[in-house]
Amino acid sequence: MVYVGLGSNLDAPHAQVAEGINELAGLPDTEVEACSSLYESEPMGPQDQPDYVNAVVRLRTGLAPEALLDGLQAIEHRHGRQRTRHWGARTLDLDILLYGEQQIAGPRLQIPHPGIAVRNFVLYPLAELDSQLEIPGRGSVTELLSACPKGRLVRLDAAAQPVV
Ligand code: ADP
Ligand code: MG
Repeated sequence: MVYVGLGSNLDAPHAQVAEGINELAGLPDTEVEACSSLYESEPMGPQDQPDYVNAVVRLRTGLAPEALLDGLQAIEHRHGRQRTRHWGARTLDLDILLYGEQQIAGPRLQIPHPGIAVRNFVLYPLAELDSQLEIPGRGSVTELLSACPKGRLVRLDAAAQPVV
């Protein structure tokens, strides 16, 4: 079970996320199995940037973790993502949150994603997709969620969900 988190706060964020999900479905040997609601969240780090739109999808993929990251970065690039400051505004951010039970601590790839346990905009959509989910090395998603402040996180209507 592979989970990917999407986030955008520039250039029509809802559309960026919806298109990002469709492009994930277009990766080789990959299917989008399930898609969370869209959420709106406050920015991490610098506050002089717009709120984010976030979502999480569950993929079934034959791509190995590094190849999947290559695919995600190619999609980010096509969305015109510019890396400026740390945690700065972005058109589309795609993170591998979980790759089955795997734990990877490489220079280019860390799985589970290092922020997973403390980010409300990741934990809420993950729990929506699977409330029984266990995060390798961190505990259950529901336990992590109960320890994570909801902040200004808002789940948007089902009507706002992209169709995949
Ligand atoms: P962030 O998502 O933390 O704001 P970036 O999207 O700019 O930052 O990613 C920075 C680097 O994070 C990427 O170059 C990538 O190599 C690395 N990275 C490490 N683990 C992951 C992961 N699980 N998913 C996506 N990128 C990752
Ligand atoms: Mg990222």
